[in-house]
Order: sequence, then structure tokens, then C-alpha cells
Amino acid sequence: MLVLRGIERQYRLASQTVRALDGVSLQIEPGEFVAITGASGSGKSTLLNVLGCLDRPDAGSYQLDGQEVAGLDDEAISAVRNRRIGFVFQSFHLLPRLTVLENVLLPTRFAHTGALPDLQRAQSLLARVGLSARLDHRPNELSGGQIQRVAVARALMMAPSVLLADEPTGNLDSRSAADVLNLFREVHAEGQTVVLVTHDPDVALQAPRLIRLRDGRIEHDGAH
Ligand code: ADP
Ligand code: MG
Repeated sequence: MLVLRGIERQYRLASQTVRALDGVSLQIEPGEFVAITGASGSGKSTLLNVLGCLDRPDAGSYQLDGQEVAGLDDEAISAVRNRRIGFVFQSFHLLPRLTVLENVLLPTRFAHTGALPDLQRAQSLLARVGLSARLDHRPNELSGGQIQRVAVARALMMAPSVLLADEPTGNLDSRSAADVLNLFREVHAEGQTVVLVTHDPDVALQAPRLIRLRDGRIEHDGAH
């Protein structure tokens, strides 16, 4: 479960202070599928980065599975991020020199887990996303849709508490985008908590719960 209370994040620029998040409170239960939407600049990525422990709020509390993460040091935050958070980005972020299989195994390198179950899990996740025939390919030998499916498999590798995605279909053609959205729907149906950021209303419709941001505040939270 994710609980945010009074989260604030400000960017101080020379001439002004931008309130990217201005008192955001929300709760996400295990197994929910939530879309975060809003205009460009409304704070979507900032909110997702806070949820994913990639960014720290300036004020407020964030409890992830009952643990307060806002005050943890860098090492503890990294451990939380590696074990509990799966992150998928618009621009994929796969390592170009590693194979598909090695990219999916990457999170296990930082977690000192046993090698053989990891390999089997990575292979079965890649089968899950339809890429069993591409294990030894490198990212530049794949289509955008295939790369994003590898990124989803990698994000799921550590069985995270929550799968976060920031505009995951933003760089994809419409068919690959539909493919990747289906994958999110399927992993949600299998019980995975999913939080998806999108500026696209049609993409947001895929999730039963919609959070709409405006100027760093929640303008709507509920059904569509
Ligand atoms: P969205 O993802 O909804 O487009 P962001 O969360 O990226 O919005 O940005 C929210 C606000 O914070 C915007 O006004 C943006 O310009 C500002 N902002 C984001 N990142 C930075 C940064 N690193 N430095 C200064 N301002 C930033
Ligand atoms: Mg953004």
C-alpha cells in the first residue's frame, strides 16, 4: 500500500519557485490500477518520481508498505527502490550492450539473490511478454514495442510492490502502444499494483481509477 500525505516538491529557480507538487495526499491499495493524468507541467512525472523514490519530497510523508520512506538515507532508499519499485520510462532505459535476458536480470545484480531462480524467473517473464525468441538479442535489434516489453519484464523482475510507468506508450506507434497497454492490463489482472502516468485520455481510460493533477494539486481522484 502507498500512502502520501501533504507531499510538496518545489523547484527554486533564479526568478521564481515552481510548486511542482503542492500538498498531494493519496492512498493506493494493493492490486489497484491507477492512471495519473493532467496537462504538461501539472506535476505528473514529479509525483511518479516521488512514488518511485527517484525524487524526495520537500515536505510531507510517504509510506510504502507501512514504512516511512521520506526520511531514509540514500542507501536505504536505493534498497527500497530496487526491491519494491518497478519503473518503466517513456524512453525505455535499457542498457544497449546487454542482451534482452541480461537487461531483465540487471536488478538482481544489486540484490544478491540466488542465480538459478533468477534466470528462470527472467526467462519466464520474457515468455510472459512474448519475447522468448529474443533472449540473446540486443536492444538495437528490437522494435520500440518489443523494447518496452523488455522494460516491463525488467521492472517486474524483483516482484515489486508497485509497477510505475511514465508515459510508457509515448514513443510507440499505435499498435505497439495498444500491445504494451494490454500488457499492463494483464499484469494488473494477475494482481500487480500499477500506476500509469499519461497525458492521453484514451490511455487513462484503461485504468478504473483516475487521478488528475492541475498545477501540482489533485483536481480529481476517482472513477472517470
Ligand atoms: P508533467 O510530467 O506533468 O509534465 P513535471 O512533473 O515534469 O510535469 O513538472 C512539474 C513542474 O515542475 C513544471 O512546471 C516543470 O517545469 C517543473 N519542473 C520539473 N522538473 C524540474 C526541474 N528539474 N527544475 C525546475 N523545474 C522543474
Ligand atoms: Mg512528465
